[in-house]
This record gives sequence, C-alpha cells and structure tokens, in this order.
Amino acid sequence: MTETSLLTLDLDALASNHAVLKAAAGGAEIAPAVKADGYGLGAALVAGRLWDEGARSFYVARLSEGLALRASLGDRDATIYLLDGVTPGAAPAIEAARLTPVLNSLPQIEAWNSHARGRVLDAALHIDTGMNRLGLRPEEAVVLTGAMDRLKHVNLTLVISHLACASEPDHALNARQLSRFTEAAALFPNARRSLANSGGIFLGGDYQFDQARPGISLYGGGPRDLPDARIKAVATLEAPILQARVVPRGESIGYGAAFTATETTRVAILAAGYADGVPRAAHPRGAMWFDGALRPMLGRVSMDLIAVDITDCDAARPGAMMQIIGPDRLVDDAAAAAGTTAYELLTRIAPRARRVVKGG
Ligand SMILES: *Cc1c(COP(=O)(O)O)cnc(C)c1O
Repeated sequence: MTETSLLTLDLDALASNHAVLKAAAGGAEIAPAVKADGYGLGAALVAGRLWDEGARSFYVARLSEGLALRASLGDRDATIYLLDGVTPGAAPAIEAARLTPVLNSLPQIEAWNSHARGRVLDAALHIDTGMNRLGLRPEEAVVLTGAMDRLKHVNLTLVISHLACASEPDHALNARQLSRFTEAAALFPNARRSLANSGGIFLGGDYQFDQARPGISLYGGGPRDLPDARIKAVATLEAPILQARVVPRGESIGYGAAFTATETTRVAILAAGYADGVPRAAHPRGAMWFDGALRPMLGRVSMDLIAVDITDCDAARPGAMMQIIGPDRLVDDAAAAAGTTAYELLTRIAPRARRVVKGG
C-alpha cells in the first residue's frame, strides 16, 4: 500500500515494444528517442534497458539531456545524437561528451566545421522535407554539395528527416516527404539514412532506410495515436482511495460544482491530481480502471483530489488503488479522453509519484 500515487515502470514491456519495432523495421537499426527524460519515464532507466536489448544509438533533444545520458551510460559506448545540433557556444561541450550533433542549418554546419578545424568530427545532417521546423531546406542541401569545403572537417555519418504526419498513413504529405528525402539524401551517398519515427516504421519498407528513431511506441503509445495490440503499456500510474462517500441526489461535487448527482451516488475520493499527471481537461470524459471496470471521474480535478463514481462497486475502500493509466487504461485512451496525446500525458507523468521499476 502507498499513500501517494505509484508509477510502475515495466522494463520487460519496454523490451517487448523494442522487439516489436525492430521486427517491423525490416532490418533498420533501432535508435530510440530518449529525449524529454525518456518521455517522462526516466532516460537513464530506459536507455540502460534498451542498451541491454541491443540499442547502440539514442536521440536526445537538449544538450543537457545528452550530457546526462552520456554520464549515465558510463563506459557503454553509445552514439548519442543531439537533435538541437550545435547551438551557440555548445560545440566544446558536445565534443567533450562525444555527442553527435544533428546539424540543422548552414550556420550550424559552419559552427561545427570551424570548431573541428584540424580534426574531423562526426555529425548527422537534418534535411527538412516538409515540416518546416528544423533542418536544411532541400535547395540548401544542393547548395551545400556545391561547396563541400563547408564540411571539410566533418564526417557526415547520417542524413535524417522527420515526418509530420506519420501517425496518419493516408496523409498525402508522407509520400511527398519520402520522395524529397530520397532525392536529398542521394546527395550524400556515403551517409546512412534515417526517416521513420514510431509511426513511420509502420508506413512500409520504403520508409525504413538504415535507421529508425522510435520514441512513443517504445513507451506504450500506439504508432497511430491509438491503442495498438502489438504495443504494451510500460507505465502504470495508480493512486489510492482516501475515502468512499455517498453524495445525495441533487448535490454537487468539487470545485465549480461541475458535476451534480442526478441519483444518489457512491463516490471514491482519490489521492491524485495535477501533480500526479492528471490534466484539468480530463474532466468531463476521464475515467479510472478499478475492480474490473472503467469508472467515470465526477467533476473537476480538485488540485490533489479526484472524485470517481463507484456506484455498484463494493471493493472501493481506503487504500485500494485505482489505475489512471496502464494496461487496463491505455495511455492513448486516457489521452483521447483528455483531448491530448500520449506524448503529453507521459512527459508530464506524476512528478509526485513513488516510482517502482519492474522487470530486468
Ligand atoms: C521525437 C522524435 C522522434 C521520435 O518520434 P515518435 O513519434 O515518438 O516515435 C524521431 N525523430 C525525431 C527527429 C524526433 O524529434
């Protein structure tokens, strides 16, 4: 029993998802995205297990994440790609931690090339194929190949691009991005190629190239932002019941009196709220799994408390745990009910929770 929320991280489920993605990726290397602290689950924890499962390359976003991951991996000699690339002043720290920057612009290429002068340092190159976020435009890549001295001190090991709509297989942008990427990557024939995130792996063999970069589906979210039978829940978040009470017909529950009982209603008050990762928008469609069924949330999240309908449920007593997300309340379903995505729910998961690791 526990008096706060409990976050159980199932590393065997993580390993199973890794195996599923690897099998689906048609021989491409699986290079997990472990940015945002491993999507909220703990980057050191997930990278450690994924290393044991055979992963040798990882992606982080921020320099600070790359430094922390390098330290946590110790003498395990992984390639750590830094998606933010060479931000101003960062080159010495990137080199010292043996991170591989993903060069996102001509100025970043200039910064890394001039930092590397007298030596040759590895880097990846990001080509933007339609997302207009990071990366060289395809026409800039063409300019670059006409001025290869700009890469004189750079060993370009990998060319990447990122799909905007990989979770929607029928979206027309997927094929457009694929063809732009194929064309642009051909300008750098000695570099390996990487396009697919979780969703991209399932778009078919054309999208898989040499390396795939899954994140969300390693951590339990489906590749199409929907539950997927092949992907297992990795994070289980539960919270204890503090009290069971009866709300008479006609009375309301919680802040804003947002729910009024139309019948006499048995309610469990749960020790969970914002600091346990439940968003305000969980009202009015949120639900918790308990005693074999989904039980609707009643009224708003009240900072640290949530009311749940337990009419017809005798098992609800103080100390019993309700599942907020997990194998019986999949993160994609909980996210959809709250008008958000598994990405947001996981990265904001339970700062207050007691963490327990299961498996491996
Ligand atoms: C975050 C990220 C990924 C992983 O995406 P998922 O949708 O979580 O699988 C892959 N590539 C890049 C460039 C990313 O930023």
